[in-house]
Amino acid sequence: LALGLSACGGGGAGSPAAGETSGGTAAPADVTVGVAMPTQTSQRWIDDGNNVKAGLEKLGYKVDLQYANDDIPTQASQLTTMINNGDKVLIIASIDGTALSSQLADAAAAGIKVISYDRLIRGSANVDFYVSFDNFKVGVQQGTSLLTGLGVLNADGSENASAAGPFNVELFAGSLDDNNAKFFYDGAMSVLKPYIDKGTIKIPSGQTDINQIATQQWKTDVAQRRMETLLTSSDANITLNGVLAPADIISRGVITALTNAGYGSGGKAFPIVTGQDADIDNVKLINDGKQYSTIFKDTRKLADEAIKVTGDYLSGKEPEANNTKDYDNGNKVVPSYLLESTVVTKDNVKSVLVDSGYYTQAQVDKGQ
Ligand code: BGC
Repeated sequence: LALGLSACGGGGAGSPAAGETSGGTAAPADVTVGVAMPTQTSQRWIDDGNNVKAGLEKLGYKVDLQYANDDIPTQASQLTTMINNGDKVLIIASIDGTALSSQLADAAAAGIKVISYDRLIRGSANVDFYVSFDNFKVGVQQGTSLLTGLGVLNADGSENASAAGPFNVELFAGSLDDNNAKFFYDGAMSVLKPYIDKGTIKIPSGQTDINQIATQQWKTDVAQRRMETLLTSSDANITLNGVLAPADIISRGVITALTNAGYGSGGKAFPIVTGQDADIDNVKLINDGKQYSTIFKDTRKLADEAIKVTGDYLSGKEPEANNTKDYDNGNKVVPSYLLESTVVTKDNVKSVLVDSGYYTQAQVDKGQ
């Protein structure tokens, strides 16, 4: 981890930070950072939690890491406990981005800095900073890779004049209480809509509105059931060519439903399915030819950024943003630091995921 945090590693010997913490800059060992993660059902959040915790502990801080099983009241009460325990900074990946206002008001009253992690917390002025990826661009990458997989676009992004088609595609979106879901959808639709409008892409169900295609709490089984319903309710002669899935946790449900419906056997080609997160199970599905792509977001870098911002706050510095316009939470534009994401297909699993040390080749081979 390249953290550059020496400024706050002085064991309390430095001069007090201007007006930031009441008694000056506390020794790291006296500081607890609360880390609230949404769920352990997706591997990425487990990695996020572990990476943030390990990085902060390496700098000497204590860390209270909690997971909330995707349950909103559980997350709210975890935050209340962190505030009551005197945690100095809260790093929060929210479940429902609008449900934490009263906890955040308490945090602000206690002088606790709040970092919104990956998902923007909405409707509160008491969000100090946002660390995430360029979420609109993630959606663009998903839409583009779907078109590339279908052969509508060439690998260099140009249009393939001899593409067959029309292609039957169904669309899935994430959980509506997660601010990211709309960004992914908007990004994907910015590339897909022109092709839907001109008929290159057909949506057999006719469902294109985010409210029709959302997946409550990003649940795998909810996605699987919707895919099953779509497959059984559409004309039996329709062959599906693609599915826009916004996250690997959703892709898995979609792929199960497609497999159960006979895709991938008896000469029935598997549709082009997208994803996000490069979960190890899905990397295996990519290698097995069932999932076409995923979007790799290096959670190590996101953790590093959250750690850096935490260190800045604890040493009285204002963290550096690289975006101060796109993330309006309904109450204010939250200064943000956004990282870049990468499309992964079968061709670059090794160069992107193994060569960077994110996974070992053995993990990729086993899918675990
Ligand atoms: C994250 C994605 C993740 C999804 C479901 C989103 O907020 O940005 O990386 O796949 O939540 O957990």
